[in-house]
Amino acid sequence: MLDVTRSPDSSAPTAIEISGVWKIFGGSWNEALNEVQTKGISKKEVLEKYNCVVGVADASFSVKRGEIFCVMGLSGSGKSTLVRHINRLLEPSAGKIVVDGSDVVGLDPEALRTFRNEKIAMVFQNFALMPHRSVLDNVAMPLEIRGISKNQRMRKAAEALELVELTGWGNKFAHELSGGMQQRVGLARALAANPEILLMDEPFSALDPLIRRQLQEEFMRLASIMRKTTVFITHDLDEAVRIGDRIAIMRDGVIVQIGTPEEIVMQPADDYVADFVAGISRLKVVRAHAVMKPLTDYESGNPPLPADAPEFDEDVNLSVLIDAAIKSDGPLAIVDGDRKRIGAITRADLLKTVVEGTETS
Ligand code: ADP
Ligand code: MG
Repeated sequence: MLDVTRSPDSSAPTAIEISGVWKIFGGSWNEALNEVQTKGISKKEVLEKYNCVVGVADASFSVKRGEIFCVMGLSGSGKSTLVRHINRLLEPSAGKIVVDGSDVVGLDPEALRTFRNEKIAMVFQNFALMPHRSVLDNVAMPLEIRGISKNQRMRKAAEALELVELTGWGNKFAHELSGGMQQRVGLARALAANPEILLMDEPFSALDPLIRRQLQEEFMRLASIMRKTTVFITHDLDEAVRIGDRIAIMRDGVIVQIGTPEEIVMQPADDYVADFVAGISRLKVVRAHAVMKPLTDYESGNPPLPADAPEFDEDVNLSVLIDAAIKSDGPLAIVDGDRKRIGAITRADLLKTVVEGTETS
């Protein structure tokens, strides 16, 4: 079973830093930006007055090395616009994008080429393969651009195909493969160049639910081996919760909340986020420390926690706790990393969390 409760490593160095990024499309973007920034006019007003579209509004976040950072929001909320700034497919109207310490907007054409060829790779929703090239040639393309010898790039491409479990398919034409397989090729192509950073723009959104689930699991298996810094775009909160270490939620170009899946599910910042969260099962997302009562609170209103109460780590998820509560009559003891008891959870606490979350308690 996949562990969907992996935590971000908060001590890892920063790989991507986005600060105060705005993107306004249209001829008068400069005037529009000025009025948005000084008077705070709305996206609608910008459109009416300047015939400009606010794609991204004052976005700031940072991604740690090795982190999987999801960006989630409805169609048109600015996800693609935001992510395309990271490899400078788009130039910001304002703000700063720093990747591994270098200012992306300041890269000269030569440095930008190297950056795109070596440091960063992108996987697109529509696969973007060359249909009449072989699968192997498609995967080897970024290496060809880099001027790597044919022998070496064919070997690397074959290795990448093996990673995505497509060994043996290298000589087919890309268009002969199913959608799910084509997206594996897209992923292999991104991985062949061994980039430090992966940008994935709704890579699984065009696939049927079952295939999509398979690719999510496959991607998580690969991610846990490779630990690449990843910005993963999706319009599906369920996917974001399964895949992301942290999630940023966008609405109308604005990032309305950034948090771990658990933080998003337990404390949605507003009604927009709460609407997404309503469709999410808490079982795999919420962990013991968010549900427990601190030991002193518990014992002030109850008999002391029995010495033989079953003990669980504060990081175990709700489904594990519910399983345990079914087997045990009494409360569960929650322990920290040093096995010290820090809290207690009763069946009533668990029921309440499943039914309504803890934000109302
Ligand atoms: P998402 O990826 O979340 O579906 P996008 O980033 O594609 O959203 O779009 C955000 C907003 O910016 C939308 O209103 C869209 O119409 C607009 N937009 C995106 N690209 C352009 C463009 N090249 N010119 C004008 N408007 C654009
Ligand atoms: Mg998009």
